[in-house]
Amino acid sequence: MDLGAQRHRIEHEINDAIAKVLEHGKFIMGPEIAMLEDELCSFVGSRNCISCSSGTDAILMALLCYDVKPGDAIITTPFTFFATAEVISLLGATPVFVDIDESTFNINTDEIEATAAKVRREGKLNLRGLITVDLFGLPCDYDLILPIAEELDLFVIQDSAQAFGASYKGGRTPTQGHIGTTSFFPAKPLGCYGDGGAVFTDDDAIAEKLRSIRVHGKGADKYDNVRIGLNARLDTLQAAILLEKLKIYGEEIEARQRIATAYCAGLADSGVQIPIVPDGSSSVWAQFTIQTNFREKLQAALKAQGVPTAVYYTTPLHLLEAFADLGYRKGDFPVAEAMAQTVCSLPLHPYLEDGQIDAICKTVHEVNC
Ligand SMILES: *Cc1c(COP(=O)(O)O)cnc(C)c1O
Repeated sequence: MDLGAQRHRIEHEINDAIAKVLEHGKFIMGPEIAMLEDELCSFVGSRNCISCSSGTDAILMALLCYDVKPGDAIITTPFTFFATAEVISLLGATPVFVDIDESTFNINTDEIEATAAKVRREGKLNLRGLITVDLFGLPCDYDLILPIAEELDLFVIQDSAQAFGASYKGGRTPTQGHIGTTSFFPAKPLGCYGDGGAVFTDDDAIAEKLRSIRVHGKGADKYDNVRIGLNARLDTLQAAILLEKLKIYGEEIEARQRIATAYCAGLADSGVQIPIVPDGSSSVWAQFTIQTNFREKLQAALKAQGVPTAVYYTTPLHLLEAFADLGYRKGDFPVAEAMAQTVCSLPLHPYLEDGQIDAICKTVHEVNC
């Protein structure tokens, strides 16, 4: 990710937007917050948007909204950023992992029912919901997931921290789950200049509860507290910055797609596995993640040319020390564990140039032959 080119493109607009906030001085819940929430709703086609302090707090707010507590179990993927499962444990509930699909890196929908049945058969935990993750910018298969969730009486929180504005069967993420969340961390596809996030839902009652949770469980006002909540507001300054960035985000998604297509063409028959996008979906390419058995060699060769690469994720969540108490072992989720050994993300941002893509593809070919 290189934020410099984007900053250069809209530098004046962003500086003006910041200056306006400094002028009016409404740093907390200023007018830009509601403006941004309206624009974000229109962009993805959601009835409600509740902006918040981060992608992590967005998921936490969603779990609080469903009153998740100790003794509850939530199914999710072991191949994601730590935060997805961290917030489940933070509330004293238990993350239950389901392995991923090897072609999309997303949760394997075929294994959800068996895992749910096992949790319910054991009878120790109350299985309540599912957190899906639209990893690397690609939506999960919600036409399969939603009926399974309904059958099992589970809520679906869609963690779209990496996939804001991707498409799934004519709709935009994160509007597929009962509650959708996203992150505006600077390196995400739509990022601000600090921490930020948002929660989306078409259910007005849920939206009202989320607005309360965002500000200390407020009722009629913030000194009339009706539940335990958080201080999880987005800063007005970040909203002002996001309003400017959102204006060019549609174009940036197209540019990301163009670059991903160029990578796919350039890497065909290079021996690496390129990302697969199922029919009916499109990715916003938070990461362009290939799989290779020569990862270290490839990373070294690219680094020698000044090209950064990254590995998301070196350790699946079930093998992290923080989750040792859950009792999982190596071998429990073979697909996630295998991916952790072979995945490598190449540079991708809307301002990457053709020459840079060609040079990267050339190096991949050289390393692999
Ligand atoms: C980045 C990320 C988060 C957390 O977002 P923050 O804004 O950094 O708190 C959660 N889930 C996934 C999948 C992410 O990639």
